[in-house]
Amino acid sequence: MDKPIIEVENVSKVFEIPHESRNTLKSYFLHPFKRIGKERFYALKSVDFKINQGDFVGVIGRNGSGKSTLLKILAGIFEPTKGKVHVNGTLVPFLELGVGFNPELTGRENIFLNGIILGMTRKYVESKFDEIVDFAEIRDFIDLQVKNYSSGMVIRLAFAIAVEARADIYLLDEVLSVGDAGFQKKSLEKMLSLLSNGATGILVSHNIKDVKQYCNRVILLKNGEVVYNGPTGEGIKIFENQMGLVSQE
Ligand code: ADP
Ligand code: MG
Repeated sequence: MDKPIIEVENVSKVFEIPHESRNTLKSYFLHPFKRIGKERFYALKSVDFKINQGDFVGVIGRNGSGKSTLLKILAGIFEPTKGKVHVNGTLVPFLELGVGFNPELTGRENIFLNGIILGMTRKYVESKFDEIVDFAEIRDFIDLQVKNYSSGMVIRLAFAIAVEARADIYLLDEVLSVGDAGFQKKSLEKMLSLLSNGATGILVSHNIKDVKQYCNRVILLKNGEVVYNGPTGEGIKIFENQMGLVSQE
């Protein structure tokens, strides 16, 4: 078999949280001289898995289970505290969409700026420019500064640019819930067409229906640990039991 496109080996991520931020005002008055220490908190604990090219993997788990932290580590935004990550291909992160924009620049200027950050040439951005603007549905606003955009417009534009970046791996953190129903459908179709050309996808979505419909595998996280890694149907059943939900089927 081919080498996995992503290998995650025994990865842990520790955040250090000052005690202070967890305590209430009341406890401060009760114990005014208590030392403020740091709490080490494991957002991910000994996470181990491999992903093959062409897989569309859903990462599921309750809020706070470590899904976004895992994707940020894969994207290189966070360093793991322990363990290793091997990514054997190019990767486009659909995480924190729009944070790379300069609000003082226009939509047009940001398309070029962001496109180049994502590894596109200027010529390539030019050739995709109209498609990006139309996909984002911001034609009338393209020469306005981005600081005048609504948050929905910013995210739609960031999404429209990122889908034009050709990559081996797409990381999607709750991005298929961006915009109205029409935009969501269009985004999903675009993603699926990229994936049908052999790309690999990793999807975090609170919409279990999307995961069920599109992912061939799931990784279930619980308190930062992988508790299931395998076919989607079985993983979702375990997750729904864990959530106290009864599966529809
Ligand atoms: P999920 O995406 O599954 O909801 P996250 O990966 O965002 O979960 O968060 C996992 C845990 O790590 C949570 O308890 C969260 O509060 C904590 N966490 C995430 N990012 C940070 C950070 N930058 N500093 C401290 N704690 C963090
Ligand atoms: Mg998250």
